[in-house]
Amino acid sequence: MIKLWINGQRTQSHSTRSAEVINPATGCVIRQVPLADSTDIELAVAAASAAFPGWRDTTALRRSRIISRFRELLELHRAELAQLASEEHGKTLEDAAGSVQRGIEVVEFASGIPHLLKGEHAENVGRGVDCHSMLQAIGVCAGITPFNFPAMVPMWMFPVAIACGNTFILKPSEKVPSCSLRMAELFKEAGLPDGVFNVVPGDKAAVDALLAHPLVRTISFVGSTPVAQYIYQTAARYGKRVQALGGAKNHAVVMPDADLDFTADAIMGAAYGSAGERCMAISVVVAVGDIADGLVARLKAAAEKLVVGAGDQKGVDMGPVISALHRDKIMAYIDSGVAQGATRVTDGRGIKVSGYEGGYFVGPTLFDDVTPDMTIYREEIFGPVLAVLRVATLEAAITLVNSNAYANGTAIFTASGTDARRFQNEIEVGMVGINVPIPVPMAFFSFGGWKSSLFGDLHMHGMEGVKFYTRTKAVTTRWPEASDSNASTLVMPTMS
Ligand code: NAD
Repeated sequence: MIKLWINGQRTQSHSTRSAEVINPATGCVIRQVPLADSTDIELAVAAASAAFPGWRDTTALRRSRIISRFRELLELHRAELAQLASEEHGKTLEDAAGSVQRGIEVVEFASGIPHLLKGEHAENVGRGVDCHSMLQAIGVCAGITPFNFPAMVPMWMFPVAIACGNTFILKPSEKVPSCSLRMAELFKEAGLPDGVFNVVPGDKAAVDALLAHPLVRTISFVGSTPVAQYIYQTAARYGKRVQALGGAKNHAVVMPDADLDFTADAIMGAAYGSAGERCMAISVVVAVGDIADGLVARLKAAAEKLVVGAGDQKGVDMGPVISALHRDKIMAYIDSGVAQGATRVTDGRGIKVSGYEGGYFVGPTLFDDVTPDMTIYREEIFGPVLAVLRVATLEAAITLVNSNAYANGTAIFTASGTDARRFQNEIEVGMVGINVPIPVPMAFFSFGGWKSSLFGDLHMHGMEGVKFYTRTKAVTTRWPEASDSNASTLVMPTMS
């Protein structure tokens, strides 16, 4: 049984509930994880609260040095973290290593915290009066993360929160708890004081205890839209600052002048990488004008060549999906695409992976002639299923994308700067790629979608992350000379 990480040590859970952690390539149980209860959460909050004053008062430079050491340890253990992510999630080792690297880049960003926390100063805002602002830590922050990026998504949150002087409780997905617990050990090895970072795997019960706890000041969430909405509403009701990132349906618009080979290659990686279980995966292609036939032919040929298998095997392009339940849900979506009249170009339902008969595999599936009323277009599938819709003009493509409830990422493939510029201006989506299929912003920019893909005001990491994890205080100062008059007045002070 896995242990929790509270106050700098592995801690036995008080919960009577647990779940199985399964290797999705084999279907075998690899470990048991406790589902933290309210007593566990109480202990984690107590540890994080006790650690807060000391950590807040540690200089930003010293915090930065500990974070830099943590980054070095993450680099040293990148392969180990990738192996844990691949084992519990199913993605290929190479893909897992890439996602760990993207997480490490957030830690690298957070190590610049002395510079990032500088406030503003203005001299003589009134006669003899100066004003400056400070960004101050908030207290105990909590993060709730999904199964699909076991290391990277937690690293969107806790390094920035902790760099800002807060303490943190991470509730990772119960399906992939091991990376988070290993990162907690590495952070301690880097010199992080006990209690600053705590990890409590669990499910809704643990989440609800965090949401209701009066000492938890902020909630960061990444997961599906219905849960994001629930988190946002509940946390706000309890008076907490909240950012809740939800699901996605990301469109790639392909213009008639796009380079077909380049575009098809880019879309293949974006649609089927990580078995489509990325929040920035391309799940819809909007083919404009006469490009569709050539594009679909290339996607079909490439999809038929993809090697599906266990993520730790050499030469494998695409691993399994997370669970038997999720595989069956994806299969039902494919059934519905066929039933509702989409053209089935490749069909991943019958796939068999020799030696891994218990694994949760779905082959790369491609539908053409999909229409906006079909279930496979409207709903997030979160699997290796790509839908091609055909439209006549860029305007129709933009209208289609803007009519979708989700608005996480999108991309346009074109040789025209004019079309690209119009797209970036008019599209109502949080992250846009121009000939870039998965426009995940670098750590020093911020990550987040719009509409049903994000509830809250601030995106993750980058300066929005720093803003989310700090409170601004403005200080107005006067040092009166003996000769200054200080006649009391009831008139609103103007300082001029
Ligand atoms: P999920 O919503 O089922 O779970 C996310 C987290 O919430 C987990 O820690 C889980 O334990 C917890 N949870 C689940 N149900 C809950 C409930 N009823 N009440 C309280 N907490 C609950 O998501 P998932 O299946 O782990 O991840 C896949 C989803 O995450 C997809 O929809 C994907 O698009 C989304 N995602 C979004 C982003 C983004 O940046 N927008 C990034 C990654 C994943």
